Amino acid sequence: MWKRLPLYVKILIGMALGIIAGMLAVYFGLTKFTTDWIKPWGVIFLNLLKLIAVPLIFVSLVKGISSLSNISKLSRIGIKTILLYVISTVIAVSFGLLLVNNFEPGNTFPEHKKTELQERFGSAISLKKDQADYIKEESPLQFLVDVVPDNFFKAATDNTKMLQIIFFAILFGIAMVILEEKKVKVVKDFFDGIDSIILKIIDIIMLFAPYGVFALIAGLIVDFSGDADLFTALGWYAITVVAGLLIMIFIIYPLFLRIFTPIKYTDFYKSISPAQLLAFSTSSSAATLPVTMECVENKMGVSNEVASFVLPVGVTINMDGTSCYQAIAAVFIAQVFGVPLDIYDQLLIVVTATLASIGTPGVPGGSIVMLIIVLTSVGIPIEGLALILGIDRPLDMLRTVVNVTGDATVSTIVAKTEGKLNHNPQVISKKVRS
Ligand code: ASP
Repeated sequence: MWKRLPLYVKILIGMALGIIAGMLAVYFGLTKFTTDWIKPWGVIFLNLLKLIAVPLIFVSLVKGISSLSNISKLSRIGIKTILLYVISTVIAVSFGLLLVNNFEPGNTFPEHKKTELQERFGSAISLKKDQADYIKEESPLQFLVDVVPDNFFKAATDNTKMLQIIFFAILFGIAMVILEEKKVKVVKDFFDGIDSIILKIIDIIMLFAPYGVFALIAGLIVDFSGDADLFTALGWYAITVVAGLLIMIFIIYPLFLRIFTPIKYTDFYKSISPAQLLAFSTSSSAATLPVTMECVENKMGVSNEVASFVLPVGVTINMDGTSCYQAIAAVFIAQVFGVPLDIYDQLLIVVTATLASIGTPGVPGGSIVMLIIVLTSVGIPIEGLALILGIDRPLDMLRTVVNVTGDATVSTIVAKTEGKLNHNPQVISKKVRS
């Protein structure tokens, strides 16, 4: 019975049981038992996620960039696509930041609790403060200097140096694109293989997720002694994420379509609704790709030439929902932990969330690992992940819908500007009805 349940149901059950176990532990005075014997399993789960972060980001970025090998042939389409992808991602992150800084869901958390958290996670927070002081003393360009590693292996052994890994991965990918296909064929196949292995490892780690979430939540409740404030804060956090994602779906994409195409957004949404539904139920934009292609080509009328380039690249590098959520999650955690974020930090979040979403694989929970990059580069304690993991799945479902919608929007715009859009609204209504 347990085996047949979908993973997200298991995670939800793990979360519910974790809440109950945590409350019971508080009620029966078993807090030490929970901290000694249950919480470590949550820490192991977090360690596994951290373990896979560096290889994942390196390999998926190299793979994503090197898949643009026909960029010279399709240079115009390629540049347009990437530009639109980056613009929409930056817009998504900016809206996320705007919402989270205004709603301040993490600040519903009482001041004395924050002080308590700061004491508990003091080392991580003081590291962050040291970093901030260091930045103030250095040249304004220090953040750029810090992005360029002088030793790849040194960067790879330090989870706080993810940006350096990203930098090297981009350099590596670009070199692969420039080089002749036959020279890099072996390396490409190698990275394809490693990518499959890493995705499999994530699958395996996620099998442990229900238990990890159980332990994390139980530990968290004990730490917070059944504190209702945390749950209020989490509720506000979820509302903020949903608001950001709905803004993308109902305001930003329709605006994009309006500016660049004559297509009515109701037609657009009718055409791609099967892909959106699948994205919602699978939480995987990669798994949804075949249906997205079908909808975009057959119902929207985007040519195969455009769709077969723009959509696969989008699945790899364009994740607007993910980037919006990462920005909100990072600032929320910072607010709960009382970590001050200045304008540099917010800009760094725009950059890292954009890059991290590029490196996020289109699989369920793909961005959780990547969120570590955003958190560590801005100096936010990654223990904060424990706060949001429990309610991640429903948010993942919605952000995957945004990811897929973003890809479909960009492919429609690129097709229109290239004269490769053969859009016939009557066909849509007939096909959607059938
Ligand atoms: N599940 C998302 C996708 O497949 C990625 C994520 O945000 O976790 O697009």
